[in-house]
Amino acid sequence: MYIAQILEKLRKTYPHQHEFHQAVTELLHSLAPVLKNPIYQKHAILERLVEPDREIFFRVAWMDDAGKIQVNRGCRIEFNAAIGPYKGGLRFHPSVNESIIKFLGFEQIFKNALTTLNMGGAKGGSDFDPKGKSDAEIMRFCQAFMDELYRHIGALTDVPAGDIGVGAREIGYLFGRYKKLVNRFDGVLTGKGLDWGGSLVRKEATGYGCVYFAQEMLGARKEDLAGKICSVSGSGNVAIYTIEKLHEVGAIPVTASDSKGMIYDSEGIDLSLLKEIKEVRGGRIEEYAQHKRNAQYTDVKDYKSGTNGVWSVPCFAAFPSATQNELSLADAHTLLNNGCKCVVEGANMPSSTKAAEVFLKAKICYGPGKAANAGGVAVSGLEMAQNASMHPWTFEVVDRKLRTIMKEIFENSAQTAQEFNDPTNLVLGSNIAGFRKVANAMIDQGY
Ligand code: NDP
Repeated sequence: MYIAQILEKLRKTYPHQHEFHQAVTELLHSLAPVLKNPIYQKHAILERLVEPDREIFFRVAWMDDAGKIQVNRGCRIEFNAAIGPYKGGLRFHPSVNESIIKFLGFEQIFKNALTTLNMGGAKGGSDFDPKGKSDAEIMRFCQAFMDELYRHIGALTDVPAGDIGVGAREIGYLFGRYKKLVNRFDGVLTGKGLDWGGSLVRKEATGYGCVYFAQEMLGARKEDLAGKICSVSGSGNVAIYTIEKLHEVGAIPVTASDSKGMIYDSEGIDLSLLKEIKEVRGGRIEEYAQHKRNAQYTDVKDYKSGTNGVWSVPCFAAFPSATQNELSLADAHTLLNNGCKCVVEGANMPSSTKAAEVFLKAKICYGPGKAANAGGVAVSGLEMAQNASMHPWTFEVVDRKLRTIMKEIFENSAQTAQEFNDPTNLVLGSNIAGFRKVANAMIDQGY
């Protein structure tokens, strides 16, 4: 009843925010067993959680190389700071809108709570498309974006990071402008360059963390990834470092993709070729097949309607690492029919609601994004700790901490799932574990 009331109010207040509804609906349904405790309704916890603390929208005017003024929309949605300063990435992509940033900011609250570190939840971004822009255009856009954002962020207030379309280059330009505006060098952004406050392993953290999480899930069932075929979607930060770690643990990642198409390489993805195309040249995944003769390229327009070509490749484990709702109900059935035993979400909400239900019903190892991809923000938290102490840690130290955090996230989620009599359901386990930490902090601190 309580859940239904909240969802109904949300639908009426924000009728067009589909991704936000999807994220809230999924979370609230899985909280049903813990919400039997009347304390959460008494303190209006759900009402307060689904409404961000504040939403900041702003105009970003910048000049392109032809001397023409361009205008984009920027935003920062600060959702909840019950357990620490706001923390969450910035996304630059033409699809960015209020619904997408709200779904991401909402999920970030619970993901950050799972990391064991003290970070609240936020997200931001712009409908700016970095593709095809010159370096100088990217710099001018980032500077214009920061000209407004700097008023709202701070090392103990709100600490943004990267996401789709925001990598090391963008963080550099954003940080440079922030420093000039406030005349202070502090850890206001994470994902910084290694020479100026960044943390080792931050670049690799989300992908590595996903594989560590997969190892924990599989290990609990006495299985592992060694020698197993894995499918990965995307070819950005998360996908590349998932593929790198899969190779390291002896698995065979055979796919990668971008928004134009996918490649299948039965010999295992050639990581240095992939990095050369994507990280060095900023090229398209299609180029991979031009350099590697046995690899097959399939264009998106040749995918079967309503499906993603990556998920038609038979695999033991699938790592959706591109974007939200990239894995449909039909894809979920195809994966299971082809013998897939493990799905690990590198991206945020990559499985549609129905696809996620199918994975849960099949009781395969299903690692939801909030838990499985929390390694990125966890190492961002470690970057903040290193900045505060002005003492950088070695690669081995950060990697060991990341591995421990991923293990703890798995154990916390699995134990919570067990406590609520649904031991294989890590959606329920991770959602309830994250929720309890935030909700209890809200109760402790008053309304
Ligand atoms: P990148 O920008 O580095 O890469 C994104 C990849 O996904 C690209 O290959 C891109 O292809 C593809 N992609 C993006 N949008 C679409 C789309 N609509 N359809 C098909 N493919 C698409 O981003 P990240 O790797 O950083 O992020 C990927 C996912 O992981 C996102 O969901 C993000 O929120 C999530 N995530 C990222 C974290 C991080 O630390 N970076 C942390 C936790 C979660 P193309 O180049 O053609 O656009």
